[in-house]
Amino acid sequence: MLIGLTAATITNVALNFRDYGYNNAIEKSKMTAEIVRDGLTAHMVNGIMDKRDFFLGNIANIKDVENLWVVRADNVIKQYGEGLQNEKPRDNIDKKVLKEGITLRQSKEDANSAILRVTIPYIATSYGNPNCLSCHNVREGDVLGAISMEFNINNVRQTGAMTIAKILGINLFFIVVALWVTHHYFKPYMQLFENLQQGIKRARTGDFSFRFTTTLKDGGNEVAEQMNTLFEKIDDTFGGIKHDLGTFMTRSNISCSDPLNTAGTIIRELSDVYKFKKTIELDNTKDEIYARFIYILKEKFNFDHFALYEVDKTAKIRRLVYITDHQSFCLPGVDNNSLECRAYRTNSDIYSTDFPHVCQNCSVNDKQYTCIPFNINDDLALTLSFSAKDMQTIEALNFDIPSIKNYFEAAKAVIESRTLMDKLRDSSLRDGATHLYNRRFLEEFIDHSANQATRIHVSYSILMIDIDFFKMINDTFGHDAGDIVIKSLAEILQTSVRKIDLPIRYGGEEFLLLLHNTTQEGALMVAEKIRTTFSEKKFQFGSETINKTLSIGVSHFPSQADSIWKVIKFADLALYEAKNTGRNRVIEFEDRMFTGGDSF
Ligand code: GH3
Ligand code: MG
Ligand code: MG
Repeated sequence: MLIGLTAATITNVALNFRDYGYNNAIEKSKMTAEIVRDGLTAHMVNGIMDKRDFFLGNIANIKDVENLWVVRADNVIKQYGEGLQNEKPRDNIDKKVLKEGITLRQSKEDANSAILRVTIPYIATSYGNPNCLSCHNVREGDVLGAISMEFNINNVRQTGAMTIAKILGINLFFIVVALWVTHHYFKPYMQLFENLQQGIKRARTGDFSFRFTTTLKDGGNEVAEQMNTLFEKIDDTFGGIKHDLGTFMTRSNISCSDPLNTAGTIIRELSDVYKFKKTIELDNTKDEIYARFIYILKEKFNFDHFALYEVDKTAKIRRLVYITDHQSFCLPGVDNNSLECRAYRTNSDIYSTDFPHVCQNCSVNDKQYTCIPFNINDDLALTLSFSAKDMQTIEALNFDIPSIKNYFEAAKAVIESRTLMDKLRDSSLRDGATHLYNRRFLEEFIDHSANQATRIHVSYSILMIDIDFFKMINDTFGHDAGDIVIKSLAEILQTSVRKIDLPIRYGGEEFLLLLHNTTQEGALMVAEKIRTTFSEKKFQFGSETINKTLSIGVSHFPSQADSIWKVIKFADLALYEAKNTGRNRVIEFEDRMFTGGDSF
């Protein structure tokens, strides 16, 4: 700033001195021109024009006037003759001034000298005293002559240079003093400022380990110490918060160096999990909880293709809770034997990124996948499978596994209690005598599960079973005997099918069997096996041993109709046909049996 000020001052002084030199010379030239005019006029009036040379010589001795000469215009030469030798125009400037009657100036400057030439015309006028026109044969405004003067303005320039040098000297002195003062008094403040800036910059990334130093005493030192105390406190507090919050989160993928950010992320995560937990606590059934979990996987974790399974640990079977599309994760057979699921069996997360074809029972070959097991209690476990088209995407999803497990963890107790409630509720869906599912169960099952059967490519074969001439047992041996026969059939049904199949007491002595993903031939074989097993069963009532037979109608979903209720009706029609064609037989539904009329 000081250097700028000095440069401005010097430029200003230099320009002012130059202007002063010129203006001074111009003023002098005007005055001299008037003195010469009046002097020459006086010489003329007094008739001593021949002495003018002496007068002009003296005038030329004025300080700073280097040269002075007077020239005559043509009309004066014409009237009074050529005049003195040196009164002839010396150059083009003289000639131009005589011709045009205007003042001309010319400056010649080099390193050593500075000359200002001024040439002023004398104009004839009748208004002056004496009247020019009274002596000169000219008209008003004609040029009578001109005076040229050369002024030396070098002195002014030198004075200016001296002044500039003095200003420069004084300013340089102040600059040096200012720099010295800055260095000694302000530098420590600047260093402290830079130190503060550095510390705050690191603090913005969450690093509060920076400690401030200063050579300043008193105020500066106090600021540094206070900042250090503040940073130490923040460092300790956030470190503690991070540690404490970490204990809330059993699993965490959050590990960043910024404690503030970490604390924020953990609190957000905790808050989300807490809200989830609070919500599912008010849910009625396990399936409602699963539905929320599915929502979170989709919306929060952006899962695209995934499946959630529920493993019945006692029965060692697996139930598909939800799958995003028809593309199954596992080969057939895993549902019937949960130990075929590698994640469940090993109780460890399975990553396709770890090893190609890591799970032998996985049917996802064109994508990367991950399967994670989660234990709920001794009876129940969950497995979650998800896939992504490439390595990068699956790794991004895998990153969220600890968070997902936090949700599982939060849901664990609630799922357990809802399982218990479901079990209680299950008793209302079972027949008390046979312990088979009842018709109410069938209705709910069709409402909830069977509706997604087509989407997830599940088929069912329906067996409608009715005891032939059952009424006769009641009538002959009593109602208890009838009950024995019913229970016996229920047992045969239970033992003849897989755990995933559903035997249902449909009516009094009428049973319905839902066979899961079974071929038509397979379903007929199962029906035939049930029929023969039952027909071979001997019942001892009093002294009599009797055999009973069954009639079975078989139909298939979705190959014969796209509604399960309709297929049940078809099985009923087939049963009717079996009854009408002699009983003790298995009849598969054929289109001709359905004459229409019912709506489903
Ligand atoms: P069909 O070959 O045509 O099926 O002859 P059916 O005698 O079996 O005929 P129907 O279906 O009319 O008879 C069913 C009887 O079963 C009527 C009902 O009194 C009896 N029943 C229904 N539920 C029970 C039960 O829980 N225990 C006993 N003992 N009898 C039942
Ligand atoms: Mg019957
Ligand atoms: Mg009947």
